Amino acid sequence: MKTTLKTDITVAAICEGFIYNELEGKGLFGLSGRLTIQPEYQRNYIYASDGGKKEVAVIESILKGYPLGLIYFNKVNDTSLEVLDGQQRITSFGRFVTNKFAIKDDNGMEQYFGGIATDKQAMIIQTKLLIYECEGTESEIKQWFRTINIAGVPLNNQELLNAVYSGPFVTLGKEEFSNSQNANIQKWGAYVSGSANRQDFLECALDWVSKSNIGDYLSRHRFDKNINELKTYFNSVIDWVSVVFTDVESEMRGLEWGRLYELYHKKAYDPAKVSAEVKQLYADPYIKNRKGIFEYILGGSVDTKLLDVRVFDEATKKSVYTTQSAEAESKDESNCPLCALGHDANRSKIWKLNEMDADHVAAWSRGGATTLKNCQMLCKTHNRAKGNR
Ligand SMILES: [Zn+2]
Repeated sequence: MKTTLKTDITVAAICEGFIYNELEGKGLFGLSGRLTIQPEYQRNYIYASDGGKKEVAVIESILKGYPLGLIYFNKVNDTSLEVLDGQQRITSFGRFVTNKFAIKDDNGMEQYFGGIATDKQAMIIQTKLLIYECEGTESEIKQWFRTINIAGVPLNNQELLNAVYSGPFVTLGKEEFSNSQNANIQKWGAYVSGSANRQDFLECALDWVSKSNIGDYLSRHRFDKNINELKTYFNSVIDWVSVVFTDVESEMRGLEWGRLYELYHKKAYDPAKVSAEVKQLYADPYIKNRKGIFEYILGGSVDTKLLDVRVFDEATKKSVYTTQSAEAESKDESNCPLCALGHDANRSKIWKLNEMDADHVAAWSRGGATTLKNCQMLCKTHNRAKGNR
């Protein structure tokens, strides 16, 4: 790969013909149309999020004369360039120069580019950038792109995969799942966590349809001209969840719905009954893991491990242990009530506190509370044997 360092390209030149597409959240072109700011394998513009602190910081750096760091262009042919690295910085000053956001002036007043002092305007647009122009094969460039993006806001997994498997399939996938203007995002957001911009929805859809083999799936479909299977599968999962669970709870966001769909979508559920059970479990103060409620119900309400039911605290255990042991000693029996029923040497064994575990006398799953009255201490062997019955 060949690289050439350019030191005479100014902010003004880059911003010539700069277009920011609000809908797609992308800076599109610069250098009078010769520069593509957002090639397909690049992430969407993210410096405007988080209150725009990052894009303001870019402008403040320029005004203080700080270097903006290296920028990399890929020379596509004699007349066209695309940004390999530096897209967020370029879009930041492009947006500022085109009056898309304001910065605070010396008096703390918000000012757009058009409103700041002319010497400051000049300072910004005359700033020269350090730009490497690179020429190489697609795979060389992509390999290198992976390397240079370790600095700055790192690309997440899906952004890297989009770069590695760029092509018609990823482009269509991003149109559907990475467009924050898509009206479905809000509905999907009830079940999928993360942001469309950072490719979390696309990643989720790919994860579900590929059974967590995203890279493999993308390599097989890279040149497909449609994303029908991806869309259909994703929508099937979302539809299934929203029919089975009619109430939307915040703990539903980010669950492994793809896996649960595979396990349970052939099973019939009565949504009214399911809804009543969800409400009952939400009202149960002993359930520590509400995220487990949905899988618990789907699996037939048996696997209480999913709910992480609250255990007895140390004070309760100690108190029950003391009472239980005193009583057992007076009867010359074991302080484990199940050992006391046996016929072996443990029949009269007094276990130490750390040799015993707390057990619900009436099981939690049958309405037993996690309170002192419902607590008994069992030796570890008997407690394990009793399990969750
Ligand atoms: Zn025992």
